[in-house]
Amino acid sequence: MHFKPSKELFYIQTCCLALLVGAFFGCAGIPSGQESVVVTRAQMQMGTVVRITAVAQSESVAQAVATAGFAEIRRLEELLSTWIFTSELSRVNAAAGVMPVSVSPDTLTVVQRAMQAAELTGGGFNIAIGPAVDAWRVTEAQRIPAASELEALRPLVDLRAVHVAERDRTIYLEKTGMRIDVGGIGKGYTADQAVTAMQKAGAIAGVVALSGDIKTFGRLPGGKMFPVGIQHPRQEGAVLAWIDLQDEAISTAGDYERFFERDGVRYHHILDPKTLQPARLCQSVTVIAKEGVWADGLDTGIFVMGPERGMELVEQLPDVEAIIVDHDGHMLVSSGLKGRIRLP
Ligand code: ADP
Ligand code: MG
Repeated sequence: MHFKPSKELFYIQTCCLALLVGAFFGCAGIPSGQESVVVTRAQMQMGTVVRITAVAQSESVAQAVATAGFAEIRRLEELLSTWIFTSELSRVNAAAGVMPVSVSPDTLTVVQRAMQAAELTGGGFNIAIGPAVDAWRVTEAQRIPAASELEALRPLVDLRAVHVAERDRTIYLEKTGMRIDVGGIGKGYTADQAVTAMQKAGAIAGVVALSGDIKTFGRLPGGKMFPVGIQHPRQEGAVLAWIDLQDEAISTAGDYERFFERDGVRYHHILDPKTLQPARLCQSVTVIAKEGVWADGLDTGIFVMGPERGMELVEQLPDVEAIIVDHDGHMLVSSGLKGRIRLP
């Protein structure tokens, strides 16, 4: 994934995409109800703050569940991070134009899901965007690449040149200089896998929140669903809407998370693969789906598609809902969410 550890902490903390209610984050180790215990722990992983809430029958099981969740996230970070030179994805990128690279089932699955997300979003989602993301380096460099520089990168942002061989379990980038970046989908996939690890370790219910990529399972002790607040894209710390989740994932892509301003223009980290410029049609896109991998892949792709085409897609997909804030700040809500969200 494309993010630098530690340096991003400031941005993520101040601009956190979705906020979980403190009521169950602040209750580490306190028995809730007769038979279950809620434990919440936070760690820096994948360049962001990861919070895990575990509901289990005892304190020791809940702690073991949280530990299992963090261990799974660490394992996936070592496969998928492009900041780790030895990761599988870094090796795939280093071998661009040279040869196919053998990868684990996890890396293969993330890239396959990314290709499916690309198809669904009409190319709005495109993991071959790597060289353009590097040219912009929005939070580090704060420079605007010249049109000629971006133009030279255009042939590299080509999904047809990404070859995924399922049977051989290899990935091959055909052109020298190509780089794939799963920053727009990897955290959602990771949240799903961390939940599976927690369930195997004995969790009754829980939440994994990698910044704004959140996956919930089960309910809180007492039968309450997990309440999640969606960050307002233009009012720092304010909630746009509340929603209760059970066995669902939620993910937000926003232009307020990593950006800089120059001459009154906002430059942010979600790029339109057609122009290689920051996508302009939305302020934020929140997607709710059964799986985090879809919530995350679709939020970025729909952000690029824009509110109209994006909402049309959401209405066609079963078990996918969305809240889109368009360029002018108007909020659009998909039909399946009407009556489910609460405004502050
Ligand atoms: P985050 O929660 O980390 O902000 P997002 O889901 O909003 O993640 O995705 C943003 C990241 O996705 C960018 O930082 C970049 O690495 C990558 N990215 C940017 N534009 C695209 C795109 N059009 N398609 C796929 N990935 C993209
Ligand atoms: Mg995403």
